[in-house]
Amino acid sequence: MALISLVFPIFNEEAVLPVLIARLEALLPTLELNGDQIEVLFINDGSRDGSLGQLRELVQTRSWVRVLSFSRNFGHQVAVTAGMHHARGAAVVLLDADLQDPPELLPEMIRLWRDEGWEVVYGKRRSREGETAFKLLTAAIFYKTLQRLTSVAIPENTGDFRLMDRKVVDALNTMGEQHRFLRGMAAWVGFKQHALEYDRPARAAGETKYPFRKMFKLAMDAITGFSYAPLKLSRDLGIFIALAAIAYGVVQAARYAIAPNSFEPGWTSIIVVLSLLSGVQLVTLGLIGEYIGRIYDEVKGRPLYLLSEKLGFRDEDPSQSQSTNSRPS
Ligand code: UDP
Ligand code: MG
Repeated sequence: MALISLVFPIFNEEAVLPVLIARLEALLPTLELNGDQIEVLFINDGSRDGSLGQLRELVQTRSWVRVLSFSRNFGHQVAVTAGMHHARGAAVVLLDADLQDPPELLPEMIRLWRDEGWEVVYGKRRSREGETAFKLLTAAIFYKTLQRLTSVAIPENTGDFRLMDRKVVDALNTMGEQHRFLRGMAAWVGFKQHALEYDRPARAAGETKYPFRKMFKLAMDAITGFSYAPLKLSRDLGIFIALAAIAYGVVQAARYAIAPNSFEPGWTSIIVVLSLLSGVQLVTLGLIGEYIGRIYDEVKGRPLYLLSEKLGFRDEDPSQSQSTNSRPS
């Protein structure tokens, strides 16, 4: 008999929460039949709708529910991290609250973990229903780029939907980095990993909480967190342009030597070269800036998140419930 922790980040999910609870309650008997005990952690990531109110009520009526509430929106990856910090299970499962990661796959995930000894079982999307063409296209470009740039093999068509053994969670909990790309970190830690294929359904209710701005931030965190390639890109681009400039100079000098009179003053070329070079310089400076900004964030060493409420942690030291800090020591 084992305790399994389910971690759900919640950002303005009032529409989906009742559906989610119904689906979980339908599933509980099956899991308990196998002798497993379930705890569910909801991390309220600064919701501005009725989510927190609903969660407060859930804690009152269901002993398996625990709630962490952030002081503001810290983002999906940080919410999941907080869940992993507070989960007590022998295995921890990360799921989206919108039921795009079907909880009905849990018995199979648990079986693969317990009976076959896999330490990570991650969901791999065979199909994706109800996603916009734009989302699918940007995701495809992102994963291809990432695969080129990084040395860590981050599996394609996966999200954060995964079951992890306690060992893996403990390993991830030692990684205190500020800009978190959990899929990459979960690949980086290694361990015995298994892909479980599934058809990803559309969101059960409500709208996406991942606008382009948040997706872009995640992509930048992924690339800068796992690759120096952009820095090398600036170097290579610089070398290439310098060589091209020298070659151009040689050619022009030769043309002048052969036929000086036919040589027309090249204002256009000057302007082209100048603007090209300043453009390249600005881009490369920007790339370096991305890294420096992240170094600055790490150096500040701020907590990843702040809790304003901790509900349902009945069996713990009450002084714990006042804790606002987060970094595991
Ligand atoms: N989420 C969060 N904080 C955010 C954005 C999203 O905790 O700032 C949660 C959200 O409530 C959901 C999960 O992250 O449980 C995935 O979000 P969503 O389903 O909107 O993303 P999508 O499936 O559209 O990529
Ligand atoms: Mg979703």
